[in-house]
Amino acid sequence: MRATFRMDIATNYTVAQMLHPHDDSHAYRFCPRCGGPLERRVVKASEPERLVCSACGFVFYLDPKIAVGTIIRSESGRLVLVRRAIEPGYGKWVFPGGYVDRGEPLTLAAVREAREECGLDIRLDALVNIYSYAGRAPVIVVYAATVLGGTLLVDDESLEAAEIETSAIPWNDLAFRSTSEALRAYLNGVRHPIPS
Ligand SMILES: [Zn+2]
Repeated sequence: MRATFRMDIATNYTVAQMLHPHDDSHAYRFCPRCGGPLERRVVKASEPERLVCSACGFVFYLDPKIAVGTIIRSESGRLVLVRRAIEPGYGKWVFPGGYVDRGEPLTLAAVREAREECGLDIRLDALVNIYSYAGRAPVIVVYAATVLGGTLLVDDESLEAAEIETSAIPWNDLAFRSTSEALRAYLNGVRHPIPS
């Protein structure tokens, strides 16, 4: 898995984030186009301050990060979870997923991540829901899927992968708020058609 929920950060807020909880612009100092210094500027009165290059005027918009996650049901009816080997959420359980590459369709990203992260070929059955939270960059699109083939394995970003009975989901040991919210929705039967 080449990209993960690494941006779903932050139990430790900097002062800047506490003042502007939607804002991680303090992390960027130079223009990605010309290398000039960025400064904070009101571009449009109704919007937050933006990072603007003082040399070339480039506006550096910090967009949301789109991630996919997939709740995968095995042949035996158990769910595939992996235990994270990286922060945030080290040692905690999550369903397979990761960031969508620019230009990559969501559904292909979900299938790719399942293949890379836990070795499984899957069929996407439904959209469970979409999760976003104030002050957090990720928007997480969660699918329900069925195993078609492959062998369960772990990549270098997981400590272990397991098929877990729905009655044995480690609710107190899940990595993210979206993990528990999506699993609860899934178990409650929430399913939406996958937009084509
Ligand atoms: Zn510039």
